[in-house]
Amino acid sequence: MIPGVRELREALRSRRLRVDELLGSVLQTIAGSDAKEPPLGAFLSVAGEEDLLTQVADLDRAFENGDEVGPLAGIPVAVKDNICTTSLPTSCGSRILEGYMAPYEATVVRRLRAAGALIVGKTNLDEFAMGSSTENSGFGPTRNPVDPERVPGGSSGGSAAAVAAGLVPLALGSDTGGSVRQPASFCGVVGLKPSYGRVSRYGLVAFASSLDQIGPLARNVEDIAMLLSVIAGVDRFDSTSVDLPVPAFQDSLDAGPEGLVVGVPSEYFPDDLDPRVAAACRAAIERFERLGAEVREISLPHTRYAVPAYYLVANAEASSNLARYDGVRYGLRSSGAESTIAVYRETRGAGFGREVKRRIVLGTYGLSAGYYDAYYGTGQRVRRLIAEDFERAFAEGVDVIFTPTAPTVAFRLGERIDDPVLMYLSDVFTVTANLARLPAISIPVGRVYGLPVGGQLLGREFDELKLLTAARALEQAVGEAALE
Ligand code: GLN
Repeated sequence: MIPGVRELREALRSRRLRVDELLGSVLQTIAGSDAKEPPLGAFLSVAGEEDLLTQVADLDRAFENGDEVGPLAGIPVAVKDNICTTSLPTSCGSRILEGYMAPYEATVVRRLRAAGALIVGKTNLDEFAMGSSTENSGFGPTRNPVDPERVPGGSSGGSAAAVAAGLVPLALGSDTGGSVRQPASFCGVVGLKPSYGRVSRYGLVAFASSLDQIGPLARNVEDIAMLLSVIAGVDRFDSTSVDLPVPAFQDSLDAGPEGLVVGVPSEYFPDDLDPRVAAACRAAIERFERLGAEVREISLPHTRYAVPAYYLVANAEASSNLARYDGVRYGLRSSGAESTIAVYRETRGAGFGREVKRRIVLGTYGLSAGYYDAYYGTGQRVRRLIAEDFERAFAEGVDVIFTPTAPTVAFRLGERIDDPVLMYLSDVFTVTANLARLPAISIPVGRVYGLPVGGQLLGREFDELKLLTAARALEQAVGEAALE
């Protein structure tokens, strides 16, 4: 199990560990995780030692000379395979982009490299980030390191599994409706979806542009804060990124739970919630309260419309974003087709998986003449109502909101793959943050049936600092209980 960032930095700085040694052992453990039976399947591609040779040599020299180095100097980071890198392919877990080399790098990747991080590989995902189990990948599933018969969650299942298995201390995922937080919950790690606009989406392959955000995964809140400080901030290549100061979040997390007002919405503890998941969450809230947080029961009345609204908006935007995979400009092209339309039809027919096709069909329908207002329009109106629920709660003095991250623990491989609606319901508690553009984090709060349970905290828009401070306090309040 690789140590956290703070410990690694200390080891590198004191020269107890060299960057080349660290990289060598990381690449070896990654290879080992896939040599097992069954393979973990966290990575779709892994960097070769030779790819990182110059960067590693420069870093080792800088450490040796005691030079100033970046905040993530020598730290291995895994990147979800829907984020563009020029050093490794970007397939989005789709056959249609198999082997695709992006001509430019995502802003987050450029910022990681500038901070000295080593991009060690690209992680598995549900095709185009559509799914909740990583079983929709065109290249085989990722397994949950806690129990290989179970899914790691999704769509950032590869990133969550890589962190949970101790292969890397940090990973990037993307979260459109829960894809960072739900796998974090299933694998027992921490995952943050920042406020919409906090992190540049430039170089993130678009799924649903008004909901997508890139977010960090790590084993503790401090490491999440560190990675967020590196990737956040305005970017002229993403007009939806927001020009707000980016503090060194990790330096001011220790305010503790004293006086923090935590709202607990009744709608997120429905009768059909797994009772042991509910109990683990309630226990975490009680510990929080004992340490000085003020817990208030609140109501977010439009919650029950969130999943349908999410799927109207997300599918509509996806159908439009995925129109670009036409067999002409990117990746796969079906050979032997005799007309332009046939090239489109055959390429898309062969290249996309079932779930992606289902969403393109539903989304196109929802945007078609005569239905646009009834479907996409209704989705947008409900979205507003959900955002107003949160605005009201925060206006009444709530600092953060606590909910379970997912209604169940990790389910078995194959258990939900033939029932899309059941699969979509894994996201009931996470889609609201995307619809309302709010920051939200999942942290481990306990174990039931031997499997991790995540608790979710949601914060005010762009108040990642308070959210992370609360998450750190909750992490400490829960302590060892997260492992029991
Ligand atoms: N599981 C949700 C979906 O299938 C969310 C995916 C995501 O956040 N990328 O759409």
